[in-house]
Amino acid sequence: MDFDLTDEQRAIAGLCREFARDEVKPRAEEMDAKAQFPYDLVAKMAELGLMGLPFPEEYGGAGADTVSYALAVMEIARADASTGITLAAHVSLGSTPFYLFGTEEQKRRYLVPLARGEMLWGFGLTEPQAGSDAGGTRTRAELREGRWIVNGTKAFITNSGTELTGGTTITAITGTDAKGRPEISNFIVPQDTPGFTRSKTYRKMGWKASDTRELSFVDAAIPEENLLGRRGGGLKQFLTILDGGRISVAALSVGLAMGAYDEALAYAKDRHQFGQAISKFQAIQFKLADMLMEIEHAKLMVLKAAWEKDNGRDYVMTASLAKLYSGEVSRRVVNEAVQIHGGYGFMDEYPVSRMYRDQKINEIGEGTNEVQRLVIARLMGL
Ligand SMILES: Cc1cc2nc3c(=O)[nH]c(=O)nc-3n(C[C@H](O)[C@H](O)[C@H](O)COP(=O)(O)OP(=O)(O)OC[C@H]3O[C@@H](n4cnc5c(N)ncnc54)[C@H](O)[C@@H]3O)c2cc1C
Repeated sequence: MDFDLTDEQRAIAGLCREFARDEVKPRAEEMDAKAQFPYDLVAKMAELGLMGLPFPEEYGGAGADTVSYALAVMEIARADASTGITLAAHVSLGSTPFYLFGTEEQKRRYLVPLARGEMLWGFGLTEPQAGSDAGGTRTRAELREGRWIVNGTKAFITNSGTELTGGTTITAITGTDAKGRPEISNFIVPQDTPGFTRSKTYRKMGWKASDTRELSFVDAAIPEENLLGRRGGGLKQFLTILDGGRISVAALSVGLAMGAYDEALAYAKDRHQFGQAISKFQAIQFKLADMLMEIEHAKLMVLKAAWEKDNGRDYVMTASLAKLYSGEVSRRVVNEAVQIHGGYGFMDEYPVSRMYRDQKINEIGEGTNEVQRLVIARLMGL
């Protein structure tokens, strides 16, 4: 077994670590306080080739592997979770549907500008009444005179309303299948479609600098060719996207935990009580040791899932385990990082305060902890 990263993987991780440390971290507190979307950082990530990292060069990407992508997300999220999710959602939710299910023309038209980072795109699965039960979609699309007429609402859609957003890919019911169940298909809905509107960004507990909106479709008419993939294959296609997305979200969780550990370690060495640095107290040393142990474990799980994906193995179980475990690790690590900061950890000028708020969504987004356990149990054959 070889645990060494390749030269390319190491170089990408190093590049992202420097960029995140020098350009993202200094901005994180202000962006959070002002709920300010990081347009300039998105432009820089595009320049660095991160916005299309795992896609082939012929489609505007950097042709890197999933391990490199996971390392990149970790390093960015280590500095700021909002910038991390903006990148991760762009790659794994916004762009991947075109890469996996798009026609050659759709790839050229949408994936190329997305991979170059010239455009962002939303992934519209969740609805007000259909969250964990994603198959409970109520949005409908009806084919009339060569156009799909879409009606419905989507909730909590990331990157769906920025100035760079070109549209959102959605699930919608297009009829009933042979067993009488709803037939669900995927559609490409460009931003300028009449009848398609976006709410203001939600006021959120965390990920404040990321863009999350409710979408509304009222007789929104799109061309017939905006069907993405096979008619009736829409739910399966989106669930496949979420399998890969779990590696992304797990990497985000590990990155956030790494950032909280960095802060806690530095603070423990600096803060003096009872005449010595608090890092000299065994109680604090044990917390830091446990934090590092859990981060290392979670990171290995994420990289294993990414490696399995890169090597054409079945990675679904590992990705689910990694997503669940990393989310829980991020909660424990961030909680202890605040504890090590004492009262200062409760103050907004300390990054761990923001990290504490940013953490919670890691256990909710792209499959809650409960749903993740259901997925794992199902994969066990239970
Ligand atoms: C900031 C943010 C960004 C997001 N971005 C996107 C996006 O880009 N695209 C998108 O499509 N969605 C997005 N989501 C939606 C996210 O994926 C959902 O919030 C998540 O899947 C949970 O759905 P829900 O919120 O409706 O909760 P519910 O499904 O209503 O769950 C409520 C509670 O019930 C539990 N529960 C539900 N079913 C079961 C069960 N069978 N067994 C046991 N417990 C159960 C859940 O675990 C949870 O604790 C985003 C959400 C947020 C908050």
